[in-house]
Amino acid sequence: MSLPRYAVIGNPIAHSRSPQIHAMFSAQTGRPLQYERLLAPLDGFAPTVQAFREAAGLGLNVTVPFKQEARALVADRLSTRARLAGAVNTLWLADGAWHGDNTDGVGLVSDLARLGVDLRDARVLLVGAGGAARGVLQPLAEAGCARIHIVNRTASRAAELARVWAAAALPGPTRVSAGGLDEAATPGGWNVVINATASGLQDAAPRLPGGLYAAGAMAYDMVYGSRPTPFMRQAEADGAARRADGLGMLVGQAAESFHLWHGVRPDPSPALVTLRAALLAEA
Ligand code: NAP
Repeated sequence: MSLPRYAVIGNPIAHSRSPQIHAMFSAQTGRPLQYERLLAPLDGFAPTVQAFREAAGLGLNVTVPFKQEARALVADRLSTRARLAGAVNTLWLADGAWHGDNTDGVGLVSDLARLGVDLRDARVLLVGAGGAARGVLQPLAEAGCARIHIVNRTASRAAELARVWAAAALPGPTRVSAGGLDEAATPGGWNVVINATASGLQDAAPRLPGGLYAAGAMAYDMVYGSRPTPFMRQAEADGAARRADGLGMLVGQAAESFHLWHGVRPDPSPALVTLRAALLAEA
C-alpha cells in the first residue's frame, strides 16, 4: 500500500531541509508518510501542483518563489494569517479543493518562546518588508507586542506594509509604525530585533544604526547557518544580550504544517538538535 504523499515545492529546491524534518516528525509521531522535493518550473507552479494532486498528493509546503501563487491558487480557502501575510506556505486537500495557511509566523513565535522571549508588551523592531516580514506581523501582534516598528532599506515598502496592517483593522493593542533603516533606533532600545531581510544571503548585515538594544534584548535572524550570521555579529557588537538564528523558526513552521496535515503537533526540539548538528558537520 502506498504511503500518504506530501512534498515541498519550490525553485530551486535541492537545498530544502523539509524532507529531513518531516521524516523526523513522522518517526516521532508514528505517522508513516512519503515526503519529497518537487521542482516546479518558474512559470509552471499551478500545472505542477495539479500533476502532484493527480498522483495522489495530499499536501504541499510551498517555498520561494511560489508563496504568492499558492495564495492565488486557494482563492478564499485560506486562514486569516495567510490572508494578511499575502502568501501561503502550506497547502492541503479538503473537500476536493486546495486550502492554504501560512505557518512562518507561528514558527517564529514558537521559537522565540522556546528561547525564553516574552513578547507580551514587548517593543519589537522588525527589519525588512518582504514576504517574510509580512508573514510574521500578525502572529507577533497576536502574541501581545506593545509596539512593532518596521524598517526597510526601501522605506516605502515598510510604509506600505504598515498601511496593509492598518487597513486590516485587527483588534489588539499593538502599535505598528514604519521607517527607513536609519530610523531604527528608539529611546530605551528594543526588547526584540528581528532580521527579516535577505541580506544574510549576501553575507552582509542590514545597515542599521547602533544603540538598538534594551537590557536583556534578543536579536533574532531569520537566516541560519553553521556560524553566527553577519546580523548576529552586528547585534553582539551593538550590545544585544542574546542572539539566535532562524533554524528554530524553520523547524517550528514545519511542525505547524505537520499539525495542519496530520492533526498532531510534533515536538520540534529533537529535530532542531539533529539539524543543528548536521549544519555544524557541514561547516
Ligand atoms: P523578499 O520578499 O525577497 O524580501 C527581501 C527583504 O530583504 C526586503 O525587505 C529587502 O529590502 C531586504 N534586503 C535584501 N538585501 C538587503 C540588504 N543587503 N540590506 C538590507 N536589506 C536587504 O524575501 P523574504 O521572503 O522576505 O525572505 C527574507 C529572508 O528570510 C530570507 O533570507 C529567507 O531565507 C528568510 N526566511 C527564513 C525563514 C525561516 O523559517 N527561518 C522563513 C521565511 C524566510 P528591499 O525592499 O529594500 O529590497
